[in-house]
Amino acid sequence: MELTLNVMKRWLVTADEKMQNHKEYLSELDQAIGDGDHGHNMARGFQAAVENVKENTEEDIGSLIKAAAMTLISKVGGASGPLYGTAFLKASDEWKGKDSLSQDEFTKGLEAAVEGIKTRGKAESGGKTMLDVWTPVLEYIQHHDIAASDLSAKAKESMQQTENMKAEKGRASYYGEESISHTDPGAYSSYLLFEALAEALDK
Ligand code: ADP
Ligand code: MG
Ligand code: MG
Repeated sequence: MELTLNVMKRWLVTADEKMQNHKEYLSELDQAIGDGDHGHNMARGFQAAVENVKENTEEDIGSLIKAAAMTLISKVGGASGPLYGTAFLKASDEWKGKDSLSQDEFTKGLEAAVEGIKTRGKAESGGKTMLDVWTPVLEYIQHHDIAASDLSAKAKESMQQTENMKAEKGRASYYGEESISHTDPGAYSSYLLFEALAEALDK
């Protein structure tokens, strides 16, 4: 399985489409256990990241993903911008100068991304955040062919499991026990991101 520069571009474009289509829903999830802006944050960030992709002619995957990271960090207010931005930035370091990635190389980037989210967010999995999708997806990719159609099912199932968790980080943690029985907005947007990856690989 080779992940080409074109697959990675399609990943960003497809992720943007999904963030636009789920903008209201993501903000609704954030209304229940946050400040109701997650859909707007993600939609604004990914739109800008994709515009940047179209304007620039990045020649390798590292610079493509680094440009997306910098856009997410600068355009998205709120916790999620720096967290997604850090994830992409750490991954881009691993992918520097490459115009295609083997599954192992892709996995290395994802490992760095997850470490980046943990450090930046001072978070671990199980705390009802985006990490509760990123970590199981990473584990899945470490052990399965990334092209397998189960990738988005894995992301979806992980996102759904955040419903029963108590929030330990971010605004949702202010809700304490009341955060239980709501899906984490950042877990939902992360599910969309990995569903977009599965679709980009499938085309
Ligand atoms: P804000 O909470 O600043 O309004 P968003 O609403 O855009 O930012 O993003 C909220 C999401 O960010 C949460 O649903 C959660 O998944 C994620 N998040 C918040 N804080 C952390 C953290 N410390 N570590 C990991 N993820 C976090
Ligand atoms: Mg919010
Ligand atoms: Mg906010």
